[in-house]
Amino acid sequence: MGNVEKSLKDIGSFTKLPGANLFTTSTTKLFNWAQKSSLWPLSFGLACCAIEMMATFASRYDLDRLGMITRASPRQSDLMIIAGTVTIKMAERIKTLYDQMASPKWVIAAGSCAISGDHYRHIYSVVPGVDWVIPVDVYVPGCPPRPEDFIEGIMELQNLISNGKISPTYNVSTGGKNQIDIKKTKTKKQKNLIENKFINKNELLNYASQYKNKDFLYLKFITATDFEEGLTLTYVISNTKLGEDMEFHVNLGNSLEIDSLSELFVGADWQEREIYDLFGISFSGHPNLKRIMMPEDWIGHPLKKEYDMDTHNSPYRPTREEYESWKTKL
Ligand code: SF4
Repeated sequence: MGNVEKSLKDIGSFTKLPGANLFTTSTTKLFNWAQKSSLWPLSFGLACCAIEMMATFASRYDLDRLGMITRASPRQSDLMIIAGTVTIKMAERIKTLYDQMASPKWVIAAGSCAISGDHYRHIYSVVPGVDWVIPVDVYVPGCPPRPEDFIEGIMELQNLISNGKISPTYNVSTGGKNQIDIKKTKTKKQKNLIENKFINKNELLNYASQYKNKDFLYLKFITATDFEEGLTLTYVISNTKLGEDMEFHVNLGNSLEIDSLSELFVGADWQEREIYDLFGISFSGHPNLKRIMMPEDWIGHPLKKEYDMDTHNSPYRPTREEYESWKTKL
């Protein structure tokens, strides 16, 4: 018996006739079989879980053998795999892509962020589970789920499709098979920190250009911290030839303005925008100071101490009451 006959046996029956086989089934079963055997997922990923998803599609696990070919357009896709953290900003895009997909269509929520928001559930920018945005058919837990888990979730979705069901009914955690390998990571050897001091904010430009002239050409990072007594900026610049770093800090107190270093270091451009977005600090002389992470019309600066973290943001972050009442219905 050939492979085709073997797989068709699940959905109908063969009768041996002289010189031929007669196959009988229903059109519903035949269409379900065709759909489950040719799932075309939309190729997109949201965060770290997407790396595991890509590994699942790659040669070692090879999802092509399940008839799965990723598509670059939602109009040719019938499966959306949500792999990664769903942010409020991304939720709108996910909804649009889902709406553009051909019907019938299915959704797999892969990883604890996609399922429930996980560690980020109460953070202002994160949706506590993608089923606040679109309906989900199969949940694959893990942080991240391993390729074997992805495959198990996909095969369960195929079972659902074979049975003609598309409503959420299966959670692979019930199998209790998900093991996460925690591998020890080595920390890199720290570079030589030659100076670490506070400077006055009026000295910033002179101070940074002085070090740039001494071959500290690489701006490693700028970051801000909201201490009780006010905001502090921290800069680290590096001399990559000598393997030397220098760190300096500026106390802003209650002031929300400082000179931009974007003329001196190209990398300051987006880092200052991020600090502006999340802390509300203005960088004078910056060529394009606008929000970079949050939507333009977002109210407030989320990393300031005064900001209320567990923020309600309709329609994708429910109010605390909506969330508690939804939990009781599970
Ligand atoms: S579940 Fe874990 S691995 Fe997946 S997106 Fe969230 S933090 Fe990353």
